[in-house]
Amino acid sequence: DGAAVLIIGAGPAGLVLGNLLLDAGVDCLVVERQSREHVERRARAGFLAANTVRVLTENGLADGLLARGQRHDACAFLTEQGRFELKYGTLGRGEVHHVYPQQDLVTDLVAQFLARGGELWFETEVTEVTGLDGDRPCITARTADGTALRRSGRYVAGCDGRHGVSRRAIPEGTYRYHRRDHGVTWLALLAEAPPSMSAIGYAVHERGFAGHMARTPSVTRYYLQRPKGTDPQGWSDERIWEELNLRMRVDRFGALNEGPILERGVVDMQSDVLDPIRYGSMYLVGDAASLISPAAAKGANLAVMEAEILARALVAALGSHDETLLDRYSADCLPRIWRAQEFSHWMINLLHAPSGDDDEVVFLSGLQLARLETLRTSRAHQDCFAENYVGV
Ligand code: FAD
Repeated sequence: DGAAVLIIGAGPAGLVLGNLLLDAGVDCLVVERQSREHVERRARAGFLAANTVRVLTENGLADGLLARGQRHDACAFLTEQGRFELKYGTLGRGEVHHVYPQQDLVTDLVAQFLARGGELWFETEVTEVTGLDGDRPCITARTADGTALRRSGRYVAGCDGRHGVSRRAIPEGTYRYHRRDHGVTWLALLAEAPPSMSAIGYAVHERGFAGHMARTPSVTRYYLQRPKGTDPQGWSDERIWEELNLRMRVDRFGALNEGPILERGVVDMQSDVLDPIRYGSMYLVGDAASLISPAAAKGANLAVMEAEILARALVAALGSHDETLLDRYSADCLPRIWRAQEFSHWMINLLHAPSGDDDEVVFLSGLQLARLETLRTSRAHQDCFAENYVGV
């Protein structure tokens, strides 16, 4: 009654890992708490880095992305001092993003996993992970109608996000936990409106940051920096567009294509890192290993990168009984996670109106302006930005 690898969670991490394992002939089971419809509609990320596109392409998982995704190679900064654009596709390593909504990617990955004969249980919540100190770990799960299920395996992959059961299964005192609340909250919006600029738009305004991210030809994501505790339902469509128009300075930089707001939610900018991202026979991947604030659009990309590294290690362990790569998994991933965290943290400071007492705000605003000016004028700085922006 066992599968070689028990994968908890059918997000980008679990589904990429599952597909790569199946492709290599490794038997695995994916268990997902939500329904298939739910995960195929959950709008979150959109910007896929070059490495992500490579992993997906090399493993036959990129048909939808290559057919319907859009290439993006520039971003614009809209500030009090003016507008400047960085064509990052011609800077740094010359890499670009593909914009493809996460729910479409998840839809493709589910279809591929099932087409490859994979076993995937939806609407089944893993409630307990046991036996991690041995070589026969076991998961206990509950289906929507309350039926209890158990499955054992050789390894567990915890791909169930920050609040999942995998993290809770790791005993206190066996890992270090680094976390930061960035003190910034976004009102995250999805508008039924075509993008208003070809580039990604970052508006830096004294009232707070506003972001414009293309998603599809008819849907655009917008973000508004708001104080913690903001009630998204308190924001009518009119109020949202008024605030976006103000912060994006449409009088100077051009009008926005407006349309109905399809979704409104809040995201508190928080980050954390577990070290190591392994306990016994369980390996954490994606948000379960490290939550990263969405300021630099790194979360899904890190998830795919880690899934590829773990898949290779599991294939070596199960195929050749060689656990060298598995033993190195945490050490291989953590420096990349920290580098993404560092860039993401830098982006938060670049984009957001600072908080604090009056003196602090004046000082930090001066630093922010200097940071933007360096980015606008220094080619060396722009190359470094491009490398970090598209790379993981
Ligand atoms: P998830 O996608 O969260 O998947 C985890 C899965 O585990 C879920 O389906 C959950 O239902 C399931 N699960 C949880 N607990 C259990 C359990 N007990 N039993 C069974 N299943 C369980 N990242 C980018 O790279 N680019 C972007 O542009 C970007 N934009 C973002 C915008 C927003 C507004 C947000 C919120 C995030 C954004 N991110 C972005 C981050 C990105 O969405 C996440 O990092 C990514 O989803 C992580 O993938 P994952 O597979 O690790 O976790």
